[in-house]
Amino acid sequence: MRVAVIGAAGRMGSAVCEAVVVDEHLDLVAAVDPLCSGEKDPTDTVVVSESLQHLDPADVDVAVDFTVAEAARLNIHWCANNGVHAVVGTSGLVDGDIASFRSAFTSSNCLVAPNFAIGAVLLMRFAEMAAPFFPTAEVIELHHDNKVDAPSGTAMRTLERMAEASSEWGIDPTEHETIAGSRGGTGPGGISVHSIRLRGLVAHQEVLFGTDGETLTLRHDSLDRASFMAGITLACRVISEHPGVTVGLDTYLGI
Ligand code: NAD
Repeated sequence: MRVAVIGAAGRMGSAVCEAVVVDEHLDLVAAVDPLCSGEKDPTDTVVVSESLQHLDPADVDVAVDFTVAEAARLNIHWCANNGVHAVVGTSGLVDGDIASFRSAFTSSNCLVAPNFAIGAVLLMRFAEMAAPFFPTAEVIELHHDNKVDAPSGTAMRTLERMAEASSEWGIDPTEHETIAGSRGGTGPGGISVHSIRLRGLVAHQEVLFGTDGETLTLRHDSLDRASFMAGITLACRVISEHPGVTVGLDTYLGI
């Protein structure tokens, strides 16, 4: 598959360029990022373009987007309009975006995955399985101190899946917060979510469940951006086999 990496100057985009060039089934044919247009990509393979408009869609099979939500919306529609598959990791996209992608992708496919780390995908699945058995739960997501959005896309998706799996969530007993926000944000199902931003972290998540006399803690740690690369390159290799718009890597992994 011929791959274009969008956001190639970013932390994720540059790692994706490196993962693509070492994958024998993938070819890095284009890189896009206004931050370093005209320069070579981090692997010295292609010259970085300022925007997708500068690419010939006939040269690209799949575009991988790790940018910001406002840019990703436009990039993903460019892919749909030009018959290019889209693998999207950018967070901050909402239900309305997914609905618009579903009507736009008619001749190519799209995967939007809040987390490409296999362990994080499994954590979401395990949280969904545990949800009906525990009346109380809280989600804590922990990220590096440059992350601009909160809560993380993974936390949002985890909350949605827990809320879909059970509607029997206990009522928050808090009547007064001495410091506003102490109980975190309220996500789907009324489940509390807490976002930690700390230098030195990469991407981590805990889901805490509680019922009478027992608790269950699920935790996943991405210790390096390498944790996302196997899922991203897998998605690029097989996206042509998954028609339409898919949310989450689960079906690509067969779980
Ligand atoms: P970053 O700030 O390091 O990189 C973003 C890059 O996008 C920048 O280089 C910026 O110049 C570029 N960009 C902005 N607008 C653009 C446009 N219109 N066209 C091309 N490039 C554009 O951020 P990051 O840490 O690499 O994260 C990127 C996104 O990926 C974030 O939303 C983050 O939350 C998400 N993320 C997802 C996963 C996952 O597994 N799904 C994992 C890590 C990060």
